[in-house]
Amino acid sequence: MMIREQLSQLLDLGKKDRQLKELREKQKTLPQKANEAKSAALDASVRESNLKAHSKELELKRAQLDLETQTEKGNLRKWEARADKIKGEREYTTLMSEIGSQKKAISDLETRSLQVMQEQDKIKKDLEAAQKALAAANTLYQEEWSKVESDMNALSAELAALEQSRGELSKSMQPSLFKRYEQIASKRAGLGVAVLSKEICQACKRTVPPELYNRVAKGEVLESCPFCQRLLVTENLGA
Ligand SMILES: [Zn+2]
Repeated sequence: MMIREQLSQLLDLGKKDRQLKELREKQKTLPQKANEAKSAALDASVRESNLKAHSKELELKRAQLDLETQTEKGNLRKWEARADKIKGEREYTTLMSEIGSQKKAISDLETRSLQVMQEQDKIKKDLEAAQKALAAANTLYQEEWSKVESDMNALSAELAALEQSRGELSKSMQPSLFKRYEQIASKRAGLGVAVLSKEICQACKRTVPPELYNRVAKGEVLESCPFCQRLLVTENLGA
């Protein structure tokens, strides 16, 4: 295969890889807002679930406290019923002290139950706010995604077509040349080719010897840039 033809394949391959790089970059940055909105919606959903779980816990806690209160009240009624039948003063005093502490226990339980109720009110409000925030976050995500959806689809199609034509080009190249290109590209930010504009390497902006430029421009040599090691081509080969 003529060197000139190989240089022109390299030029083409370099263009395709630059384009692929740009498209892949765009694919990452374009849906950034939608991705952020999605992650915010996920956070909101986690917050909502946590509040729901907390609310459930409080419900159980309050049911438990109410049950204990009922039991203690039942006990108090028994003590009080006994008090009517007691004659001895000492026995009576002991019983009264029992009743006193029983009442205190009930009052403590009721206070705790009230605290739980207040906490429940707060959680209920927090949960309502979290549900609103979640709905808003989901709406925002839908909006942001719908803004970029068609562009993203077009981008995927463009990438697929470009990847296919790159594949075809690489198959038409000499395997050793393609391998050399790939090796350089893997070490040079995905670009294994540099275009010379006059004597300046457009990839690293350094000046190559005029002799090298002339030979590349005439399509005589396959050479690397002495500075960035990329394979050198020119836009108008053999002009
Ligand atoms: Zn260079």
